[in-house]
Amino acid sequence: MKICVLPGDGIGPEIIAEAVRVLQALDLGFEMEEALLGGCAVDATGDPYPEATQKLALAADAVLLGAVGGPQWDGNRREQRPERGLLGIRKQLGLFANLRPAILYPELANASTLKPEVVAGLDILIVRELTGDIYFGEPRGIEVRNGERFGFNTMHYTESEIRRILRVAFEAARKRSRKVCSVDKMNVLECTQLWRDVAAETALEYPDVELSHMLVDNAAMQLVKNPKQFDVVVTGNMFGDILSDEASMLTGSIGMLPSASLDANNKGLYEPSHGSAPDIAGQGVANPLATILSAAMMLRYTFSNEAAAKRIEDAVKKVLAQGFRTGDIYESGMKKVGTRGMGDAVLAAL
Ligand code: NAD
Repeated sequence: MKICVLPGDGIGPEIIAEAVRVLQALDLGFEMEEALLGGCAVDATGDPYPEATQKLALAADAVLLGAVGGPQWDGNRREQRPERGLLGIRKQLGLFANLRPAILYPELANASTLKPEVVAGLDILIVRELTGDIYFGEPRGIEVRNGERFGFNTMHYTESEIRRILRVAFEAARKRSRKVCSVDKMNVLECTQLWRDVAAETALEYPDVELSHMLVDNAAMQLVKNPKQFDVVVTGNMFGDILSDEASMLTGSIGMLPSASLDANNKGLYEPSHGSAPDIAGQGVANPLATILSAAMMLRYTFSNEAAAKRIEDAVKKVLAQGFRTGDIYESGMKKVGTRGMGDAVLAAL
C-alpha cells in the first residue's frame, strides 16, 4: 500500500504533516514517499509536475496532496504555473470522478451564513465529472469572424462518460441514504438531455437507490433554500465546479472540507477543498482537519478500510466536541489551537 505524498505550496506542508502523522498512528503499514508538485516544483525543476513526481504518482495506490499555488508564481507563463501541475496529475491518472462531501458538524453550526436550522446536520455529497464537458471540448477558441472577435467552446459527453460517473454516484449513495439527484440543463442543452436519459437508464441497475432529476438553476436555488433535501448530487464538470463550491460554503468552514478524485479502479487523489492560503502560510495556524479528513476518504475509497476511515472521522468529531478550534472556526469560549495542536488533539482522540 503505497501513498505518494505531495505537500505542495503555502500551508500545504504544514497540513500534510498532520495528516501523515494520523496515517502513521493508525499503523496500517503504508509506505509513504514525498515529491514536489506546483510552485515548489517549478522553483526546483522548472516544471510544475516533474518527471520524478509523475513516476511516483503512477506507481502509488493513492496520492495525498496539500495545495498548490501562491502569488509568487502568478506572473509565470502558463506552462510554469502551479495549477498546471494539478491539471497534469489529474489528467495523467485519469481521475474522472470528484467527490466532495459537505458536512456541517453540529458544533460548527454558527460558522454557516445560513440559519442554523437550515444547515444543522447537513451531510451531502457532490459527485462531479472531472475530465469531460465544455472545459475540455473541442473546437474552442477566440477568433475574428465577420470583423469582430468571436469566442466559442463545445460542450460534449459520450454516453459511456455519463454512465461511469452516474455509477460512482449510485455506488456512493448505497453507502449513504440511497438518494441520487442528477443535475442537468436539459430544457436548453441537448448534451444534458443525453445526460438525463443515460442517468435514467443507469438507475435501472440500482433499483435500491432513488433517482431524481433537477435543472441546474433550480439546484443552485434549492442548495441554499433547503440543502438537507439532498443526499448525493451528481453532475457534469462545469455545473459541478460551481455547485460544489456553493455546497461547501453552506458549511462556512473551508478548512473542514475534504475531497477525493478517483479513476476507474478507485485509485485516487485526496486533497482538501481549499487552496494554499498564502496569507497564513508558515504561521502554524492553518486548520489541518480537511486534509486529515481527506486521508479518511483515502482509506474508505482506495483502501476499502471503512473502519479506519470512521476512526479518523470520529476522532475529528470528538476534538470538535472537546472544543478544540483553529482560528478559521474559532468562537469565544473554545480552546484555540494551531495546526500542530489540532493534529495532537486528533492523535489523542484516536
Ligand atoms: P484559499 O482556499 O487558499 O484561501 C481562502 C481563504 O481561506 C484565505 O483567507 C485562507 O487563509 C483561508 N483558508 C484556506 N484554507 C484554510 C485552512 N486550512 N485553515 C485556515 N484558513 C484557511 O483560496 P485563495 O486565497 O483563493 O487561493 C490561494 C492560492 O491557492 C492561489 O494561488 C490559488 O490558485 C490556490 N488554490 C489551489 C487549490 C488547490 O491546490 N487545489 C485550490 C484553490 C486555490
